[in-house]
Amino acid sequence: MGTFSLDPDQLARCAELRDFARRHLAPLAEKGEPGRVNRPLVAELGRLGLLDRLFTSGALDLCLMRESLAQVSTEAETALALQGLGAHPVHAYGTEEQRRRLLPEVRAGRAVAAFALSEPGAGSDAAAMELRAEPGAHGQWLLSGEKTWISNAPEADFYTVFARTGAPDSRAGGVTAFLVPADRPGLTGASLDMLSPHPIGTLTFDGVPVTADDVLGEVGSGFRVAMNTLNLFRPSVGAFALGMAQAALDATLAHTARRDAFGGKLKDLQTVAHQVADMALRVESARLTVYAAASAYDEGADGVPRRAAMAKLLATETAQHVVDTAVQLHGARALRRGHLLEHLYREVRAPRIYEGATEVQRAIIARELYKEAAR
Ligand SMILES: Cc1cc2nc3c(=O)[nH]c(=O)nc-3n(C[C@H](O)[C@H](O)[C@H](O)COP(=O)(O)OP(=O)(O)OC[C@H]3O[C@@H](n4cnc5c(N)ncnc54)[C@H](O)[C@@H]3O)c2cc1C
Repeated sequence: MGTFSLDPDQLARCAELRDFARRHLAPLAEKGEPGRVNRPLVAELGRLGLLDRLFTSGALDLCLMRESLAQVSTEAETALALQGLGAHPVHAYGTEEQRRRLLPEVRAGRAVAAFALSEPGAGSDAAAMELRAEPGAHGQWLLSGEKTWISNAPEADFYTVFARTGAPDSRAGGVTAFLVPADRPGLTGASLDMLSPHPIGTLTFDGVPVTADDVLGEVGSGFRVAMNTLNLFRPSVGAFALGMAQAALDATLAHTARRDAFGGKLKDLQTVAHQVADMALRVESARLTVYAAASAYDEGADGVPRRAAMAKLLATETAQHVVDTAVQLHGARALRRGHLLEHLYREVRAPRIYEGATEVQRAIIARELYKEAAR
């Protein structure tokens, strides 16, 4: 990336991804069952080499992949992102054996991954988690408790599960990350039906056995595994939102240029044209913030948590505004079931809440600013 723009290679790869998405992924996404894991779609992401790229390239490339896919198929984008979120802890913190056993399957799109942090009583305040890992016989732990809002649950093949190995009040310092295959005894789950169909559910752990071989990273350092994973993925949630915003902007440009109104076209009304200009302005500003945060992550620069939080906040809020304005400028047709904007209007809502709600991003930004100022 040049300082403020993508280089020709990056632009060509984005165009190629949009083309792959149109030709290979969108048709499979359409055949999927809403709210269920779409295994043929995940396998196709593997065949095209896109899942491989999750682990071989950096944060900026992840953003470019998510933004490009989201412009064409939010289902394909989400399937890709969830493989990354669920398997990144194995890639970054797993032992040789764990990595050898699982990552080739994830890359090929044969194993479906999930990231299980949230609980009924611990969402934004993840350090309040209660799922317990209690010592059992022969150096085992037994996991007991509940996770909720877990994407790909209960259909995933394995889960990165964050559990409390420390005292009940040990907060972030008493959490360990475990790699839990879906077929462990005592692990059950149920699907949840959401505004925008998304494979998601609850998980119930009833004495699920895990051993030292299942630990990801160190005992007691699971919270760092979770937060470092989120630092990588947060700008890319912004990129997902940007892809949706760009699709809404493109649709609005086309619609306002051809819709007859008051003896001309909609775009001839200055208030309409200025709203379109404002949409483009906001998308461009958010895009620069997202690319800058991802580049900072890749370069190991200072201020990654602050910049990742800024990127996620700005891009997801911008996308909501842009999609809403696009609906307004399309009129009734945008609300008809099956219209691109009806779909985007439902899809754009959740990213303002997950991986840290907007308000939580503000709290992170402020905390980091005060830390930086005190140095
Ligand atoms: C589509 C979707 C997919 C998801 N996938 C996953 C997944 O794969 N894995 C996983 O572990 N979780 C997942 N989640 C859960 C998600 O991470 C949580 O919903 C999120 O962390 C917020 O937690 P909560 O819903 O319990 O809201 P709460 O924590 O109850 O917060 C509710 C609201 O309170 C406000 N608030 C909270 N904290 C603060 C604060 N510090 N300052 C000011 N205001 C605040 C915010 O407005 C927030 O939206 C998913 C959620 C959705 C919607």
